[in-house]
Amino acid sequence: MNETDSIDQPEIKRRPWWQRVPLTLQIVIALILAIAVGIALGGGNPSSANEALIKNLAIPAELVLKALRALAPPLILVAVLHTFMTANIPGTAGRRLAVLLFTNTTVAILIGLLVANVLHPGTWGRLTVPGGTTTSAEQKFDPWGLIQDAVPKAILEPLVNNNVIQLIVIALSFGIVLRAIKSEMVAQGKNSYQPIEDVISILFEAVIRILNWVIALVPLAVFGIVASTVAKEGFEPFISLAAFIVAVLIALALQACYYLTRVNFGSWVKPLNFLRGGSDAFLMAFSTSSSGATMPVTFEVLQEKIGLRESSAALGSLVGANFNNDGTALYEAMSALFISQVLGQHLNIGQQFLVILTSIFASVGAANIPNAGLVTMTLVFTSVGLPTQYIAVLVTVDWFLDRCRTAINVMGDMTVSALLDGKKPHSQGKF
Ligand code: ASP
Repeated sequence: MNETDSIDQPEIKRRPWWQRVPLTLQIVIALILAIAVGIALGGGNPSSANEALIKNLAIPAELVLKALRALAPPLILVAVLHTFMTANIPGTAGRRLAVLLFTNTTVAILIGLLVANVLHPGTWGRLTVPGGTTTSAEQKFDPWGLIQDAVPKAILEPLVNNNVIQLIVIALSFGIVLRAIKSEMVAQGKNSYQPIEDVISILFEAVIRILNWVIALVPLAVFGIVASTVAKEGFEPFISLAAFIVAVLIALALQACYYLTRVNFGSWVKPLNFLRGGSDAFLMAFSTSSSGATMPVTFEVLQEKIGLRESSAALGSLVGANFNNDGTALYEAMSALFISQVLGQHLNIGQQFLVILTSIFASVGAANIPNAGLVTMTLVFTSVGLPTQYIAVLVTVDWFLDRCRTAINVMGDMTVSALLDGKKPHSQGKF
């Protein structure tokens, strides 16, 4: 279940009207206002009198970005710990699930990198970061250095330095150990693991709540960054972003084709029935940008409409959804490559390998709520020395691309369920 469900519902009634306007609508209004203000401030030819104002317009985006960077490591840490502590996965099915999740996510990232390498969306236009300076530390890929650096000097070091590899080492170590301790205690009929599990759940909820505050500021950040970009450079930077949108949509469509092929050859479900039966879940994912909020619908359509066995439906939609965010992984890898192309900073094979590795974990750590991918993307960027300031520019298109990648995240969970259900038909489906 989506951890925020229980806390969001009662709040809705108490919210003032302006907070009840859907986030997407707020962002669209912010975009329209920003374009008008950007044109009024110069539309590509700003006068020197407006220079300071234009620069300061980028401040909200810088603050949002700083908050995202700060939240990323604790989010990944508690998300991984939370999943290890609470997920209920039976042995063999668990191993199959892990293999399926890993292959699907790797394929998604490879598709993303392939499309970005072929189309080169970052070279279609000119894109600069308004306000901030871009410090891009060109990094060489050094696998031995990576191994040498994998263990932090102190447990809290990766949280402070945003070092994703070290963070993963810490999160996995504690996750595996806590899980083992819990299993031993359960076998002995003890429940003294419960307080730790509760603390982890509460911390996870707390990080998500703070994340929701930051996300509430996104319309303001979008307003500032678009207004200052239009004022300084006119509309040319948006050509580059349009190219990026096209590239991401092509890659997501290819990933959907990959799922349908796997469903066709690896399960008894017919791809057309999969699409028709799953349409409610895809639409819900697209309209909410949250695979967590879509979870109950995904579970239901898998059982009721597609006709999978309850156990496979539950493993893919309820358990898999916590780890499995293929659309997010694809998007994070493509964003890194896109920005490297914008900067003319070529990422070699080694660095792209690092992008694959970090995107896998960044997608596992991305909570299944709107815009969560943006948070963990900061770690992917840092791992290959790309300036995270550019993520502020991606915020302007994230409201749309998030919807599309969320639909793919959900389709990925459903594919895993269908594959776990196997080739022997189970005939309760409506189609
Ligand atoms: N919104 C996505 C989801 O809920 C996560 C992301 O931001 O990529 O699945």
